Amino acid sequence: MVLLLFGPPGSGKGTQSGKISHWLGVPAISTGDMLREEIKAGSALGSAAKSIMASGGLVGDDLVNRMLAQRVSLPDCAHGFLLDGYPRTVDQAEYLDNLLATRQFHSPIVLHLDVPMDALVGRLSSRRQCPQCKRIYNLLHQPPRTPGICDDDGTPLITRRDDSEEVVTERIRTYDEVTRPVLAYYQDRKYYQIRGDRSPGYIFEEITGILEPVVAKNGSSCCAKAAQRGQKL
Ligand code: ADP
Repeated sequence: MVLLLFGPPGSGKGTQSGKISHWLGVPAISTGDMLREEIKAGSALGSAAKSIMASGGLVGDDLVNRMLAQRVSLPDCAHGFLLDGYPRTVDQAEYLDNLLATRQFHSPIVLHLDVPMDALVGRLSSRRQCPQCKRIYNLLHQPPRTPGICDDDGTPLITRRDDSEEVVTERIRTYDEVTRPVLAYYQDRKYYQIRGDRSPGYIFEEITGILEPVVAKNGSSCCAKAAQRGQKL
């Protein structure tokens, strides 16, 4: 099973992708996280991406497509995976279709987290993230138990550099202009729109409600079990 999590910056993709990945036993792949790792490592890709990400634009399709293809060719993706933040352009969507066809995966299931635009800037400015395990907190709605510290591994939380108001505004504009049109590409596929302006637990219940029949149809209670049997969902 290949899942695509769609939604504007601050729509809760990262939070839901962690929950879904844990529930289904498939890896969650965030191209944003991967690019931040490349920057941290000081790679050529990282230095190409750095200033683009800092300004809220999109990294070039060729670079991101190549990075994604490498990641999904790793063994943990053999039976399915979840993509958070990819594809973000029609070119990337076409590239992904070819890639999935080559690997004999079914067409992806698209989950679109829809959040009113005026709620996003506030959400992002109160967001904090654990740089170690990538868990996302929100100072208003989901604060850590100890201020500034990750509940799971005790790492000091960080504010993403591109969560400043100016860059957030540009990221939202880029989403509206370039990424929202990608949704039209998937309209006639397995496409589900989900209201993202509710609690993370409620949204996750809706997502499991959507996915359970698909998982059940494939004769398994979760993908991990299917993976053990060498079956693609
Ligand atoms: P958000 O969805 O909140 O904007 P991400 O972590 O998904 O955050 O992305 C952060 C930045 O990484 C984006 O603003 C963009 O510059 C870059 N990026 C991530 N994914 C892609 C992609 N698929 N194509 C191009 N650029 C990307």
